[in-house]
Amino acid sequence: MSIYTGPVFEMAATQFAAIADHIGIAQDERARLLYPKRTIAVSVPVHMDDGRTEVFQGYRVQHHLTLGPTKGGTRFAPSLDVGETAALAIWMSWKCALANLPYGGAKGGVACDPGILSRRELEAISRRYMQEMIPFVSPHTDVMAPDMGTNEQVMAWFMDTYSMHHGHSVNEIVTGKPVALGGTEGRREATGRGVAHLIGRACERLGMRASNSTAIVQGFGNVGSVTALCLQAEHGVKVVGASDHTAAFHDPNGLDVAKLAAHAAAHRVLSGYTEAPRIDPAELLLQKADILAPCAVERVIDAANAGRLQCRILAEGANGPTTPEADAILDLRGDVFVIPDILCNAGGVVVSYFEWVQDLQRLFWSETEVNTKLRSLLDGTFAQVSARAAKDRISMRMAALAIGVERVRAGKQLRGLFP
Ligand code: NAD
Repeated sequence: MSIYTGPVFEMAATQFAAIADHIGIAQDERARLLYPKRTIAVSVPVHMDDGRTEVFQGYRVQHHLTLGPTKGGTRFAPSLDVGETAALAIWMSWKCALANLPYGGAKGGVACDPGILSRRELEAISRRYMQEMIPFVSPHTDVMAPDMGTNEQVMAWFMDTYSMHHGHSVNEIVTGKPVALGGTEGRREATGRGVAHLIGRACERLGMRASNSTAIVQGFGNVGSVTALCLQAEHGVKVVGASDHTAAFHDPNGLDVAKLAAHAAAHRVLSGYTEAPRIDPAELLLQKADILAPCAVERVIDAANAGRLQCRILAEGANGPTTPEADAILDLRGDVFVIPDILCNAGGVVVSYFEWVQDLQRLFWSETEVNTKLRSLLDGTFAQVSARAAKDRISMRMAALAIGVERVRAGKQLRGLFP
């Protein structure tokens, strides 16, 4: 029996089975492509502020090392488990291959609630987690980055812990670090900036004017807040809805995104913001807007609400926001253009790759150079996915996954099976 269970892993496995059928992968080749190469589970004991010692569960899943080191974010969330971590690692593999980055996918994290931890407790968890991972990671084996619940500061603690162990600074062990420690210009904004850029491309393709369009953004952390800010500031989109796990707001006349972002920066949550009308969070997704961008957690677009969405573009800033059942409904409807997660949010790992390259070369680029290269890579990938979808008469998601899976498969076939 597999250790990889749960609804999120099932989603990744179901998607893979559909792609394997579409491109004709033999049954005996499938498990080698789907199942992770390595999964590490660790205990993370920490002295809490109240004097107790608490032991948290930490994970790291390295999906495949066929094309280079593994690469992926670190999630601090109460519900994190092995199945979810594995699914996220698998999606990272297809995403990196789709963008032609020399990486396999990984994901990791700690089952904890960063919202109730003190800064000292968060630092202790971060350092002990990295300490436990030292035997299994390196700049040429597995390179971590931020994800939900982690940020530049956590990456700085990871880098310091790893570097202290090795006796010298190893900046390239993580990406998404502060610029002062070898991070790159533009990384913090890269995922949301990429989401907004691809929404702009989708608008062009559908003959919509971005500056006449409206958007709803679910999730107001790194990805959601930057997506909303870029949509408004760079594309002229009117943002009419926004939410996080504490509150949801909707105003057909438009929200003041900069004010919302300032509130979130000051209070860590949207709750307490009083300058826009509140709405039930589930209802927010069903409101009329040209663009819906889920930028929070998995499985929020499901069989129950997919038929009732009123958007023209579904831009998946989050990983895995749409269930396979919802996908089938959207395919049947045919009126919602989906920018699938492994394409839509790829800006984050693309600029993480730029950061790793700059660290290895000790040669740093300007923000303009980073953003120009980012846009060019995303444009090329969007065009490839669109062409494949048209050629095979399949959805954008199937096309993106097909390209990613084929590239990993080709790498495995060329290298052969060791020994
Ligand atoms: P974050 O921790 O910065 O923010 C997460 C946000 O989601 C918070 O505002 C939180 O309140 C909100 N949220 C959580 N549960 C919610 C719910 N049920 N309803 C509404 N809002 C909810 O995390 P992030 O880095 O912005 O990541 C968000 C998503 O984007 C995740 O799926 C992550 O895997 C994906 N992603 C992140 C990056 C990156 O560079 N950070 C890159 C690619 C993909």
